[in-house]
Amino acid sequence: MKLIIIGPQGSGKGTQAKLLSEKLNVLHISTGDIFRDNIKKETELGKKAQEYINFGKLVPDELTVKLVESKIKEDICKNGFILDGFPRNLIQAKSLDGFTDIDCVIVIDISDKEAIKRISGRRTCEECGKIFNVNTDNINNKCKFCDGNLIQRDDDVEETVKERLKTYHEITKPVINYYKEQNKTIVVDGERAIEIIFDEIIKKIKK
Ligand code: AMP
Repeated sequence: MKLIIIGPQGSGKGTQAKLLSEKLNVLHISTGDIFRDNIKKETELGKKAQEYINFGKLVPDELTVKLVESKIKEDICKNGFILDGFPRNLIQAKSLDGFTDIDCVIVIDISDKEAIKRISGRRTCEECGKIFNVNTDNINNKCKFCDGNLIQRDDDVEETVKERLKTYHEITKPVINYYKEQNKTIVVDGERAIEIIFDEIIKKIKK
C-alpha cells in the first residue's frame, strides 16, 4: 500500500502514521522527523533545513522532493509506505506522481483552535523522542519512560504554530483537493480518541 496522511500540525497524523505503518507493515516516512534528525546530527541537509523550520516555513522543494524520492526507492519500501508531512504543496504532489502511484490519501481534520492548543502544549523527550502534552498528561519536566529532559520543539511555540497553520491552509489544502479530484481521499474527524480514529481509518481503507 502506498499511502499519504495529511492534516494540520497537532492533528495526530504522526501518531496515526506510526500505528498504520505497524498494522499494515509499510514504512513510515516523516519528512519532519528526517529533517529533525539531520538537524540533530548537524548534517548539511540539517543545516539548510533548520533556517526554514525554525520560522515555520517550508523547506525548499528541491531538497524535500529529492529526499523523499531516494527514500521511496530504497529496498525497505517494497511493501509500501505511508508519507507523513509530504506532499505539502502542489509542486511536491506533482513531483511525486513522477516516481510513484498513490493508492489512498488519509485526511485528518481538526480546528485551528484545537491545533494551537495541542501543539503549544506538546513536549518531546530529548532522549527517546516520546511525545507528551501538558493539557492531557500529568507531566513534570522529565520523561516517565527514560528520565530524559522534556523540551518544547523550537517550532512549537505559539507564533510559529500560527505561521505553520497559515501555510497549511494556503499551500497544503490545495493538495487535498488535488487528490479529492482523483477520488483518492478519505476524511476522518481528528478531534476524537486515537483508537477510534485509527479504527475508522482502517475501515475506510479496507472499503
Ligand atoms: P512536521 O513535523 O511534519 O510538522 O514538519 C516540521 C517542519 O519541517 C515543517 O514546518 C517544515 O518546515 C518542514 N517540512 C516537513 N515536511 C516538509 C515538506 N514536505 N516540505 C517542506 N518542508 C517540510
